[in-house]
Amino acid sequence: MIVVKSSAELERMRRSGRMVAEVLEMMRQKVAPGVTTLELNRLAEDQCKKWKAKPAFKGYGGFPYTICASPNDRVVHGFPNADPLQEGDIISIDFGLIADGFYGDSAVTLAVGEIDSATQRLLSVTKQSLDDGIAAAVNGGRLSDISHAVQLRAEGAGYGVVREFVGHGIGRALHEDPQIPNYGPAGRGPLLKAGMTLAIEPMINAGSPAVKVLDDGWTAVTLDGGRSAHFEHTVVVTENGPEILTRL
Ligand code: MG
Ligand code: MG
Repeated sequence: MIVVKSSAELERMRRSGRMVAEVLEMMRQKVAPGVTTLELNRLAEDQCKKWKAKPAFKGYGGFPYTICASPNDRVVHGFPNADPLQEGDIISIDFGLIADGFYGDSAVTLAVGEIDSATQRLLSVTKQSLDDGIAAAVNGGRLSDISHAVQLRAEGAGYGVVREFVGHGIGRALHEDPQIPNYGPAGRGPLLKAGMTLAIEPMINAGSPAVKVLDDGWTAVTLDGGRSAHFEHTVVVTENGPEILTRL
């Protein structure tokens, strides 16, 4: 069942979303060659403590950290570690929290120092595929319009759309109905209605879409070793078009 939020609930989701955006902005400012993802994890955790907000991922299904940190060929769900980020790396950071009863969830792939132009293109196209997906999140549309918009953009640029992980509804739970694949024909699935809150999150590989999960049981990597990017926003469908909740 897809939960439609009241305007009072949406006010609370706007606050959670803004907090998530503030933490990702802190990450963006901190990321540089030599910084470790464990340091980023601590920053995010400390900020949650200050706000008395609960990190969404720590403890979720046993996930041990506050952020997911997935560099280079890591797709999603990477563990933060003590390896310094290197010039030319990319790092995908996924972060969520719950405050006042409602979740926010967002992800961004950041460049570490200067990155090559092929990688820059992967980041731009993945971000654009998210923007296209969000633009399709309109009252009276169909859920798979979002999926299709993401796929068109990413595959149109020659990239692989990851199948194994999908976006999701979000609200009082981190993962609510519906699931939102990043591929498929348009015009299918539930009708989108004002008040539905969705976490849209394309995971796009430079090469083949195939992924595998490492022995830690969490970290997804590209099967071909190519790079992968991930952008996510929590969005609400409104009468006047989509509204992004996880931004400043
Ligand atoms: Mg996320
Ligand atoms: Mg998510």
